[in-house]
Amino acid sequence: MRAFVQSAAVFTCVLALAGCLPDAGPATVEPQAPSEEQGVDPQLSVDTLIDAPAGFVEDRVGSADYPIPPYARYLEGVKICLDPGHGGDAHKRGYKRGPTGVREAEMNLRVAKYLRAFLEAAGADVKLTREEDVDLSLADRAGVANAWGADLFVSCHHNAISNKPHVNRTTVWYHKTVDYRPSNIDLARYLCAGLYDTIALPEITGVPLKSDQLMYEDGFGVLRNATVTAALTETSFFTNPEEEQRLRDPEYNMLEAYGLFLAFARYAAAGLPRAELIEPADGMVTAGQPARLVFRLDDGLRSRKAWGSERQMILTDSIAVRLDGELLPHTFTNEGYELTAELPADLTPGERSVEVQFQNMNKNSVLNPHFTISLP
Ligand SMILES: [Zn+2]
Repeated sequence: MRAFVQSAAVFTCVLALAGCLPDAGPATVEPQAPSEEQGVDPQLSVDTLIDAPAGFVEDRVGSADYPIPPYARYLEGVKICLDPGHGGDAHKRGYKRGPTGVREAEMNLRVAKYLRAFLEAAGADVKLTREEDVDLSLADRAGVANAWGADLFVSCHHNAISNKPHVNRTTVWYHKTVDYRPSNIDLARYLCAGLYDTIALPEITGVPLKSDQLMYEDGFGVLRNATVTAALTETSFFTNPEEEQRLRDPEYNMLEAYGLFLAFARYAAAGLPRAELIEPADGMVTAGQPARLVFRLDDGLRSRKAWGSERQMILTDSIAVRLDGELLPHTFTNEGYELTAELPADLTPGERSVEVQFQNMNKNSVLNPHFTISLP
């Protein structure tokens, strides 16, 4: 167990050294049935995780073993909604459980709570879709993030596969296509890197970012219903007997949470770009006025006023404006960071959707690309 803590410390020391991470695979925990009570069917049991001792989280978050890196300061004020997958399902025999009955719903919730502790220590605003062992619909989970106006939404899961107990790898899932919402890919990429650097499963898949259309034609309900930047993590496989036992261990859950925390911190440090419609600010295009839209772009970096931040930090060729999916001609000026798009003259009246895309110098795409305008 101690090995996890030590490896967390080692990883943080070498984060800057890409490709130089030590080969520290997970340690082995002896298999043990989660419920030692006589006569309890382990595939119906609850409280299947090893209890954390008192003060466990407080002793770790920000400690030498789980430090809050200085760059995590850019998480301050970022609104992050975490969705611990499943819950309220213990009565379904064998449902989302490992070989000895360890429940996915429980590990998801504990990792999300540990992750919240790290994020809040860095100043982020965090909301969980559930705090207890209860179920919510997939639409309701996304609805929590949407209604709150979250910047980022992550559904935390662990994976399963039948009849292949040896399988154990990390994947992170995005909705539909890479173009559906490019910031979803950014989020997924950082999450995957964070898990690679901490729990560092020895087995990998060549393309760890996966489309949810590989599973369902319409994708995952929790991602389909999200109107904010969203991804779903499948940290590891609880159907792998050794991994199932590690996933019961609070120290391992802490390490998972730390990897996800580093992911959010690195993402925020690289700048979270945003767009604002400033003309017409209310989206109501006035008849007889010049038919154009003006957006102010925020690369997520310039406001830090670092040396050189008056220079353009948006990739010019990454800028695109679409009206109902069709590209509009646009101009962008570094001064004021204003993006102007010309509307065609012959538009029929009504509500239209506008999408703005751009990437900052760290290749992070705008978090809020979608706008609605009303044409006279
Ligand atoms: Zn799941």
